[in-house]
Amino acid sequence: MNLLEECRGAGRIGISGHIRPDGDCIGSCMGLYLYLKKELPEAEIRVFLEKPADIYGCISRIEDVDSAYGEQKNFDVFFALDSVADRLGKAQPYFENAKKRINIDHHISNANGCGNVNYVDPQASSTSELVYRLIGNDGLDQEIAKALYMGIAHDTGCFQYSCTTPETLRAAADLISYGFDFSRLIEETFFEKTYLQMQILGRALLESIRFMDDRCVVSVLNRKTLDFYGAGPQDLEGIVSQLRSIKGVECAIFLYETGAQEYKVSLRSSEKVNVAAIASYFGGGGHVRAAGCTMTGTAHDVINNLSLHIERQLDGGEA
Ligand code: 5GP
Ligand code: MN
Repeated sequence: MNLLEECRGAGRIGISGHIRPDGDCIGSCMGLYLYLKKELPEAEIRVFLEKPADIYGCISRIEDVDSAYGEQKNFDVFFALDSVADRLGKAQPYFENAKKRINIDHHISNANGCGNVNYVDPQASSTSELVYRLIGNDGLDQEIAKALYMGIAHDTGCFQYSCTTPETLRAAADLISYGFDFSRLIEETFFEKTYLQMQILGRALLESIRFMDDRCVVSVLNRKTLDFYGAGPQDLEGIVSQLRSIKGVECAIFLYETGAQEYKVSLRSSEKVNVAAIASYFGGGGHVRAAGCTMTGTAHDVINNLSLHIERQLDGGEA
């Protein structure tokens, strides 16, 4: 796919990513936004996302992100990044009513794409790596490089997860050659946590329970606890990966209450369990080693339902 070719003649171009945007979602959207602004000065270009966390304040033009979604007029081209159509939240109608719908994603649960032009590669580390590929060397500058590097670093757990490939590292090497302060960028957006985030992480670890011969671990944060700490979804990122790091754990489950008998579920696996398959079964999606969904019922029901699938895979050896 050639980005500029796809946007030729378009007067209004929109970009969005999934709800509760993470580093890759924000990095890929902002990287593409900065690139199109630079290359297509005549076009009206808009980027829509749920309000990015304060840590992303270091990304150029992040203040341009529209989180009010007041737009009424249709777009000529609309990009859905790092997402399927039904996870775009309030931007979903913009995407669906656009003349041309372009989907760029790396989720295996979205292998066919949801646009009329699709660039989906489930082998890619991140959507930011895909945007890097599409922009190519000639189109980069320091600010675009910074946004894309951040996205790649976040989705690879700082180049640690198995989705990291030689191509990912070559992309990262090229991106840091643009001279931004990558150590600081990663410290500020990935490692640094507020006191509140650390407290709630501690609480989640303290209350976690291992089961299935200690091959699984689960932790649940209910509404009351979240309210006590004043914690929102953005304060809970990273908890599930800490649970997954426990020695001997094959599969980690983290739940937090989003409504009456409704839980957001995060799943991570070390080697054996295909959590994308489980999340997809329950209406969500993601990657083989990291996936999520929303489930209803009591926390007990949710854990029991998930456990059945995990156990089947662990004992059946299916991956
Ligand atoms: P997390 O557990 O960090 O929320 O998400 C892990 C991965 O699964 C991410 O790539 C995320 O985009 C994906 N994911 C999480 N929740 C959902 C969901 O409800 N639906 C879909 N399709 N993907 C999800
Ligand atoms: Mn991603």
